Amino acid sequence: MRKALYPGTFDPITNGHLDIIERASKIVDHLIVGVVEKSTKKTIFNADERSNYVIQATKALSNVSVIRYSGLTVDIAKNNNADIIIRGLRITSDYEYESEMALVNMTLDKNIETLCLFSSLNYQILSSSRVKEIGALGGDISKMIPEIIIKPLLEKIN
Ligand code: ADP
Repeated sequence: MRKALYPGTFDPITNGHLDIIERASKIVDHLIVGVVEKSTKKTIFNADERSNYVIQATKALSNVSVIRYSGLTVDIAKNNNADIIIRGLRITSDYEYESEMALVNMTLDKNIETLCLFSSLNYQILSSSRVKEIGALGGDISKMIPEIIIKPLLEKIN
């Protein structure tokens, strides 16, 4: 059984993340979404909230499970029998960071491959931070994140 880990901060999960999750879940037998407990980024949702939203947003996908984790991503992948790390790549912004992370992870564990999926056209400029910015300025975020997160997000940022 081929398992992959899709790690991220998911503060909060966006429709761009969900698109990657849906597409990755079709190419592996089981996809584990790993929600980082303590991100280097300052988060507005705590780890419980971030992982609960990922669980709710992915509940229709039968081969997707969600974990919270801290520590090295390659170790979490190995401990969960996943030999692939999934990442999403927006053409304009992610290449440098993602290629460096992939090389770091390859150095830490050569048996784990990083597989980057290109972001779909609709989500190329979508990020959790952009959603928060637009929401804080009163813009329409309804097509950017799952509906269940809209109200709690607006409560946090306004
Ligand atoms: P991290 O803090 O690990 O970068 P994020 O939650 O910001 O966590 O992102 C997790 C992964 O999802 C990263 O590989 C990121 O490039 C990817 N990603 C984020 N937004 C999008 C999007 N709109 N389309 C495709 N991939 C995305």
